[in-house]
Amino acid sequence: MDISRRDFLRLATTAGSGTALSGLIASGVSLAPVTARAQQLRIRTAKATPSVCPFCSVGCALLVHTTEGKIVNIEGDVRSPFSEGTLCPKGAATFQLHVNPNRPMQVLHRAPGAADWEVWDIERAMDRVAELVKKTRDETFIEKTAEGKLVNCCTSIFSLGGATLDNEWNHLQQKLMRGLGVVPIENQARI
Ligand code: SF4
Repeated sequence: MDISRRDFLRLATTAGSGTALSGLIASGVSLAPVTARAQQLRIRTAKATPSVCPFCSVGCALLVHTTEGKIVNIEGDVRSPFSEGTLCPKGAATFQLHVNPNRPMQVLHRAPGAADWEVWDIERAMDRVAELVKKTRDETFIEKTAEGKLVNCCTSIFSLGGATLDNEWNHLQQKLMRGLGVVPIENQARI
């Protein structure tokens, strides 16, 4: 079904749910050919490399499209026998994790009481984190409770991971934290 710009606007404004997309769909227009054509153009000459979503142990299959060594698209791989090309919102946003102008690329530090952020180099930031972790652990480590029970823990440090930390990072993070005696270890990695 061909549709003009005028038809598109009319359908969009008269559709019960009020969106252009729902108006088109309600009119019986299939967007599948248009979507397929757009995908084809975007990745027509790109190299497709099979990969796996890094975020959780479900391991949904991805196809990473690259052009001249740069990622141009990431999508679900329909050949996967269990994910069949589908991805949850985290997996579907993998491209934006890699290619995103809003992604901070420098370490920003705001000193206690300061109003402005200061750019730090990564070595300085890592040294500062290590210094504070060691200081806090040395000052607050509990080997035994008042009753003499061996606990070897450090309850003054809390480890909170973000949704974009991958399986491997989380594995190392919890090993490091448990080695330090940290008890509260949390990660926002729900699916
Ligand atoms: S985060 Fe989502 S897309 Fe990625 S492996 Fe887990 S369920 Fe699949």
